Amino acid sequence: MKLQGRTALVTGGSRGIGRAVALALAAEGADVAVNYVSSEGAAKEVVEQIKKGGRRAMLAQADVADYPDTFRMAQEVLREFGHLDILVNNAGINSDKTFTKMDHASWRRVLAINLDGVFNCSKVFIDQMLKRNYGRIVNMTSVIGQIGNFGQANYAASKAGVAAFSKSLAKELAGKGITVNAIAPGFIETEMVLGIPEKVRNKLLDQIPLRRFGTPEEVARAVVYLCSADGDYFTGAEFSINGGLLM
Ligand code: NAP
Repeated sequence: MKLQGRTALVTGGSRGIGRAVALALAAEGADVAVNYVSSEGAAKEVVEQIKKGGRRAMLAQADVADYPDTFRMAQEVLREFGHLDILVNNAGINSDKTFTKMDHASWRRVLAINLDGVFNCSKVFIDQMLKRNYGRIVNMTSVIGQIGNFGQANYAASKAGVAAFSKSLAKELAGKGITVNAIAPGFIETEMVLGIPEKVRNKLLDQIPLRRFGTPEEVARAVVYLCSADGDYFTGAEFSINGGLLM
C-alpha cells in the first residue's frame, strides 16, 4: 500500500471525482476525512465504505467558500486525525451562462467556491504541514481553465486562478517538504457532465480523440500517484487528463 499511515482530506468527497479520490486514497492505506456541503447521506456512504476497508474515516462538513466554517472543520479533522498529510482541493461548481447574461452573484459564487475555497482549505492546514515538514496538496483545475469555454467565463477564470495559485504555492513550499500540484481533467462522467444535453455531449465527444469521457477513477489514480512516493519529484505540475482534447 502506497499511503499507509497517511491522513487525507478530500473536499467535495461526497460525489463524483472527489468520492473516487477518497476511496482510492483509502484503498492505498490512507485515513480519509470526507468533506461535503449538503449531501450528508452520500458522504456518510463514502465514510462507511472506507471504514469497511479497515481505514479511519470521518465526515467533514463545511462550506469551503466560508473561511470560519472551513477553519472549524480543520480543527475537527486535526482533533480526530492528529495531523493532515494530504489535502485534495476538489470541491467545485459551475454556473454556466454567456457573459452578457451572467450576473454578479453567479460570478461571485463560482469564484468563492472554486478559488476562495482552495485558498481557505490550504490556509487552515498549512501551518501544521510546515511544522511537520511534509505535505501533499493536489488542486482540481480543468481543461476549461486552460482553453476557456463558451458560457463558462466564471468557471474558466476560477480554474485558471487555481492553476496559477498552485504554481506560486509550489515555489514557496518546495523547500519545506510540501509539494503542490494540479490535475486538469477534461470531461469526466459525473453529474457535472451527465447533466449536459445529449446533443452537446455528442458534439464534445467528437472533439475528444479517445472518443469517450473519462471516469472519476481515472482521475483518482493520478491523485494517488501525486500523493505517493512515486510522485515525490513533482511539484508545480498540472496533469492533463482529457483523452487528448487538449495536446
Ligand atoms: P460534482 O459531481 O458536481 O461534485 C461536486 C462536489 O463538490 C460535491 O461533493 C459537493 O458537495 C462539493 N461541493 C460543492 N460546493 C461545495 C462547497 N461550497 N463546499 C464544500 N463542498 C462543496 O463535481 P465533479 O464533476 O466530481 O467535479 C469535482 C471537481 O473536478 C470540481 O472542482 C470540478 O470543477 C472539477 N472538474 C470536473 C470535471 C468533470 O468533467 N466532471 C472536469 C474538470 C474539472 P455536496 O455533495 O454536499 O453538494
